[in-house]
Amino acid sequence: MELTVIGCSGSISGPLSPASSYLVTAPHGGRSFSLLVDLGPGSLGALYGLIDPSRIDAIAISHLHPDHCIDLCGFHVASRYAPNAPWDPVDLYGPPGTLERIRRAYDPSLDNSDAEDLTASFTPHAWQPSQQVGPFLITTAMMSHPVPTYGMRIEAGGEVLAYSADTGPTQALVDLARGADLLLAEASFLDGEANPSGLHLTGSQTGDHAQAAGVSALVITHVPPWYDTEQVLTAAREHFDGPVEAARPGMIRRVGGTERVGVAGGD
Ligand SMILES: [Zn+2]
Ligand SMILES: [Zn+2]
Repeated sequence: MELTVIGCSGSISGPLSPASSYLVTAPHGGRSFSLLVDLGPGSLGALYGLIDPSRIDAIAISHLHPDHCIDLCGFHVASRYAPNAPWDPVDLYGPPGTLERIRRAYDPSLDNSDAEDLTASFTPHAWQPSQQVGPFLITTAMMSHPVPTYGMRIEAGGEVLAYSADTGPTQALVDLARGADLLLAEASFLDGEANPSGLHLTGSQTGDHAQAAGVSALVITHVPPWYDTEQVLTAAREHFDGPVEAARPGMIRRVGGTERVGVAGGD
């Protein structure tokens, strides 16, 4: 299994990165299966630098905050108007109501009789506790966030990637990530500030969750552009014994191996 960071800026897109989006690939039926996890602002354009989006096999949306899903509008546009359009509808996993959420974002008309038919681009599947998506067994768990938010445990070939999505401190993340080869986890707050509860993690809290879950490696993501990533990273390292690094666009990591695969399009 391989993880490629498309975008990792927290809450909004940043000067150096789109908002949240990750490409997860694994062998399946003699080829590589491509799962796109979240699709925040700017990420669809960045994805074109790695793969033609028409080749994406499935999309998994953690929750319906715009910084994780709004480029589904752009995906629909590309699916209809790119030179190789129309694309076959792609399997879209997400919270119940995902398609309606995107239709409302896409279509400024209040007249539903002329509503955009997003099923031309997406085949929606509401998240279940577990589901098989190509080579991936995806287990979901509800995180601690103001809207229904699904953390994901993605398993293939004995390798395990866990993704926190957005969350405040919760045992559910520890349970979901238990023993994972790699935990991709958010750290959006700074320690020592009056942070609201049930929203995001600080770097030290993310480190604590990784430590409690006994994961092999931690990748910090979703640091917003108004905070210093190095400060968050330092806090996480003080609370987790294993390797910790910050996500950056184009970063590729093999899940379940220690080998560094490389960085797409240079470093
Ligand atoms: Zn977010
Ligand atoms: Zn959120």
